[in-house]
Formats: sequence, structure tokens, C-alpha cells
Amino acid sequence: MSTSVEAALRARIDAEGSIGLDVFMEAANAAYYATGDVIGAAGDFITAPEISQCFGELVGLWAAVTWQSLGAPAAFNLVELGPGRGTLMADVLRSAVLMPGFGAAAQLHLVERSSSLRHRQRRTLTGRDIRWHDSLASLPPGPTLFLANEFLDALPIRQWAFTDRWNERRIAGDGDAFRFVLAPTARSIPAPAVAGSIYEDSPAIDAVVREIAARLIRDGGTALLIDYGYAQGHGDTLQAVRRHAPVEALAAPGTRDLTAHVNFGAVAATARAAGAGVFGPLEQGTWLRRLGIEVRAEKLGRGKSAEVRESILAGVRRLTDARAMGSLFKVMALAQPSLNTLEGFDPKEPA
Ligand code: SAH
Repeated sequence: MSTSVEAALRARIDAEGSIGLDVFMEAANAAYYATGDVIGAAGDFITAPEISQCFGELVGLWAAVTWQSLGAPAAFNLVELGPGRGTLMADVLRSAVLMPGFGAAAQLHLVERSSSLRHRQRRTLTGRDIRWHDSLASLPPGPTLFLANEFLDALPIRQWAFTDRWNERRIAGDGDAFRFVLAPTARSIPAPAVAGSIYEDSPAIDAVVREIAARLIRDGGTALLIDYGYAQGHGDTLQAVRRHAPVEALAAPGTRDLTAHVNFGAVAATARAAGAGVFGPLEQGTWLRRLGIEVRAEKLGRGKSAEVRESILAGVRRLTDARAMGSLFKVMALAQPSLNTLEGFDPKEPA
């Protein structure tokens, strides 16, 4: 059975010969997230806030302390990019309001394009005054704390492959299926020119990072970016997941989650070039331990049954253990230029 996004992509390939991977990924993911509640044990993939409430609670405490170090503005935007089921924001608010003044000052904005996920977020965050946005463009001015967990990895990438020259890896039709084809490019690619070498970039991530940086510089604030990724170039990282298992990336677009590892080196370079401060990337395990996740888990388990205590600790281990999510996931913060320290991070390195 072919999906309507599949038919649309096919028509575009018929008209244009081939399309960039970014065009394919953008359309496939928009259709995919529109299908509904794809996150969590019953969905296709699980994320840190769905694994342990300790994750969002620590992000909330971090946000509260950061708000104070920004001078505790009486009104600020608390913006989450790609909020999924709304779980992270719910946990963040529950812990951040322990900081007097934070709750009254925070104006909540969620950047989410999927209407079924917006619906799910509204249910999770019942009773909160929230404004939704399709993109960052419509966010109001003012000091802003951005939060994004597993948002950048969902944004479209392009791929470049070296044979005896650099080519773009594009997508063409192949009977009923899609396949990669190589189209020579004159573009200069910042990766070793070795046969088999693949380089990924993302104009979409660059645009988001530039927009965040411009707002932080103009109005003040920080952005906390958490995702799986690497600090330097890494080859082919495109992956597709359905029902918690890897599947074919180019098959049945709109029925599977397409992601790529985030190039945090590129994010840092784009943010610095725009004039924002950069902290990290740190491994997620390191950052969470510095914020005291083990103490938090211990407290949460106090007075509970041995079974509940063990499940809390198991969740925290999954987030922090290098063999699980502790090492592959990275945490980076972008900030207004005047901020030199941020909780959990090493002091800012000179640009
Ligand atoms: N942060 C959540 C969800 C991660 S899944 C969690 O940690 O559980 C990715 C999220 O980003 C989804 O909410 C998806 O709908 C949203 N998203 C993906 N691409 C987007 C885009 N281009 N614009 C806005 N939201 C997008």
C-alpha cells in the first residue's frame, strides 16, 4: 500500500529526475509525525523524558538556575522545540517552580508541527497557558530559554559521497521503490577526499541554530540542545526506526522515524559564527551526574518498595551508562554572549 507522501515524492522524482535526501526526509517525517503518538513503549521509539522523570526534573532545575543567572527576568519565553508527548515540559515545570518567581515569569511556547502531537501535548499539560508554533519564526521577542531533546536529529540532512570526486547522494525511483543515486557536485565538502567517504550536513539545522543565536544575542537567554550525535564528522548516520527496531530508510516514507546523528561541531561553529556563546558538548551521562541525577533518583525512591526503587535506578542507569544513552547522547548549550558559566558545563571556552 503506498502512502500519499510516497505518491507525492514519486511525482516529484518523475518531474525532477532525483531529489535531495533533505527533501525526502522533510516530507517523510512531516507525514510520519502527523500519524500520531509514535513515542514511548507502545510507539516506535523511546526518549529520555519517557524513560525517567528524573531527566526532566533536572532539566527543570537547570532552567531555574539559568533563569536566575540571567537576572531572573520578570517575563521570559520558555520554549520547547519538538515537545513530543509533552512529558519533558511537564517534568520541567514541576521542578522549576520550586524556584520562587520562575512559574509566574515563564510564558510557555511549544514549537510543534504535528497536530496530533499538539493534541497529546495539550492533554499532558492540561491547565497550562500555552501557545503553539509551526516554527521559531512566530515566537515573540524577549529573553528566552530554549529546550530541545531529540529535535535536531529529526531535521532533514543532505549527504555527500566521495568516489573519485564529490557527489551528492540523491534519491531516485527504482520501480516501486526508492534508491540512492550519485550526482556530481562542484561544492567544497569539509571532509577527507577518500573513496567511500560520506559527509552529512543540514541546512535545516543551520537555519534553526542561526535563528536561536540571533534571538539569544538580541534578547538574551540560553538554549539547551540534547541529542545523539558527535563532535566531529562521522560518515553515514541516517537511520530509520519502527517499533523499536531498525528498518529500511527509503522504504514506505511516512511509516518510520528517519533521523541522523547531530554534528555538534557544526552546531557550535554556526552558533559561534553568529556571535552566540557555546558550552559543551558534554556526554549526557557526565552532565546528568554533575547535576546530581544519582542523588535525585535516591530521594525519589525513598520509602518506596524495592521494586519501584530498582525501576527508578534502572531508568537513571539507562540515561547515564556509557553503554546505553550516557555517551552517545550529548548536551550542548548556546547562550547570550555575556554568560560565561552555566550549571553542569565547563566554563565557556574563548571563541
Ligand atoms: N522531545 C520529545 C520528542 C522527540 S521526537 C522527547 O524527547 O520525547 C521529535 C519531535 O520534534 C516531535 O514532537 C516532532 O513532531 C517534532 N518535530 C520534528 N520535526 C519538526 C519540525 N520541522 N518542526 C517542528 N517540530 C518538529
